[in-house]
Amino acid sequence: MFFDTHCHIDLFDDPIKIAQSYENANASCVMATMMPSHYQMALPYLQPFKAIMPALGMHPLRAHECKKEIKMFIDHARSSDYIGEIGLDFSAEGKKTKQEQITILKTILPYLRNGKFVTVHSRNAHEELACLLDDYHVGPVCFHYFIGGTQAAIELTAKGHYFSVNGNMLRNKHRYLIDAVHRDNILVESDGPFLTKQPLTMIGHIYDELGNIWHTDKHVTEEIISLNFGRCRTIFS
Ligand SMILES: [Zn+2]
Repeated sequence: MFFDTHCHIDLFDDPIKIAQSYENANASCVMATMMPSHYQMALPYLQPFKAIMPALGMHPLRAHECKKEIKMFIDHARSSDYIGEIGLDFSAEGKKTKQEQITILKTILPYLRNGKFVTVHSRNAHEELACLLDDYHVGPVCFHYFIGGTQAAIELTAKGHYFSVNGNMLRNKHRYLIDAVHRDNILVESDGPFLTKQPLTMIGHIYDELGNIWHTDKHVTEEIISLNFGRCRTIFS
């Protein structure tokens, strides 16, 4: 069974068709969202799809709008087992809302301690994000599309965190991540529709590639990812 741990199903032209395609392929998908209101809106539509796990999101690049939905986030955080995407973005695009992003994260992190799968965005901000996760005892989490370098990846692995790898990373210099990180800390993501309009095709390709790199057959590769996904849950410490 395939696991896609980061796909924005609600941003596709026909979200129901995409949800159905996971179901038909016997694949599971964590549906990342941008804002609590998006999560809330999607919930009733996704209920029939056992394969889709809607995640409660608060995207750092939407900090300005998300600020108004903090209460909605906290209300849903009690019942949602899947969180994301949340995080920090201090790239040129995100820098202007840096303080807002930090304030939001500090407000929501205390609600994410118990048994949740959390997918995080960390562009140009993984050090600050890792510190906040430590401060609020939130982890392990899954760093999605991590491009922070080998040394940082090793340090985050030592803290128990996971990394979800997408098809773009396999084709560019960020492929290093797979060698730098133990296979027990690797997950798989499509990051659709941003990176692909055909998430399942990409996911299948990543599983094949991981099998080549790890010298594991299809069955063993699927087993490793499945166990990793099961373990990647926040523990209160
Ligand atoms: Zn995303």
